[in-house]
Amino acid sequence: MGETQIVTIPCLSDNYAFLLHDVSTGATACVDVPDAAPIQSALAARGWSLSDILITHHHWDHVDGLPELVTATGAKVWGATADAHRLPPLDHSVSEGDTVTIGGLTGDVIDVSGHSLGHIAFHFPEAGAVFTADSLMALGCGRLFEGTPEQMYDSLQKLAALPPETLVCSGHEYTAANARFALTIEPGNPDLISRVQRITTARAADQPTVPSSLAEELATNPFLRAAEPAIAATLAMTGATPAQVFARIRAEKDTF
Ligand code: ZN
Ligand code: FE
Repeated sequence: MGETQIVTIPCLSDNYAFLLHDVSTGATACVDVPDAAPIQSALAARGWSLSDILITHHHWDHVDGLPELVTATGAKVWGATADAHRLPPLDHSVSEGDTVTIGGLTGDVIDVSGHSLGHIAFHFPEAGAVFTADSLMALGCGRLFEGTPEQMYDSLQKLAALPPETLVCSGHEYTAANARFALTIEPGNPDLISRVQRITTARAADQPTVPSSLAEELATNPFLRAAEPAIAATLAMTGATPAQVFARIRAEKDTF
């Protein structure tokens, strides 16, 4: 199993980009490009050269720095076939079931439509990481701009099935606001209460709360917990399907 390194790069006001570095080959991928400059600084600080860029979805805050970064590095760009018409030119277009290759690393492409149609996540089993951008987020999930609640529910179920030790590298520092909302959905969850305390401490020290682990998301993220009877009861939805409960949680968050 090859050694890998992951670097979290704050960009813009609350976005994250990530570097995924394959130590054995020296290949380095960047996931999303909110802004080229902080990514170029992170590369230069480590003496890494960028081989590949992985794009999760078409929103400007994930692609605005892409043309500049491609010009500066010549890296090859991977993105969703479904988004190709609204992304800068792709070198490789991929869909669920396809793989991406970063040096000696192989990543699986997962369709996580919901926030946008054609949003993809990249799971690297050897690195123990999944890059989820605006699908599964720390204590939250992306707003439904293009997809239906059912689509997002299905997308999150795919991510929930990954190994629990997987690092969830998501696209924004929204965790403190997500935590305030999560406590309204599951006020008696002891794992959530202790996680919120850790989040409060981290944010007070201006430390990132991303990445998180899938295990902690499964234990605390209301959007992954729609099948919990206690949540259905809190929402007066006992007997509803998990997808219906999920849709209600998402709607409540939209107006929180
Ligand atoms: Zn987005
Ligand atoms: Fe975003």
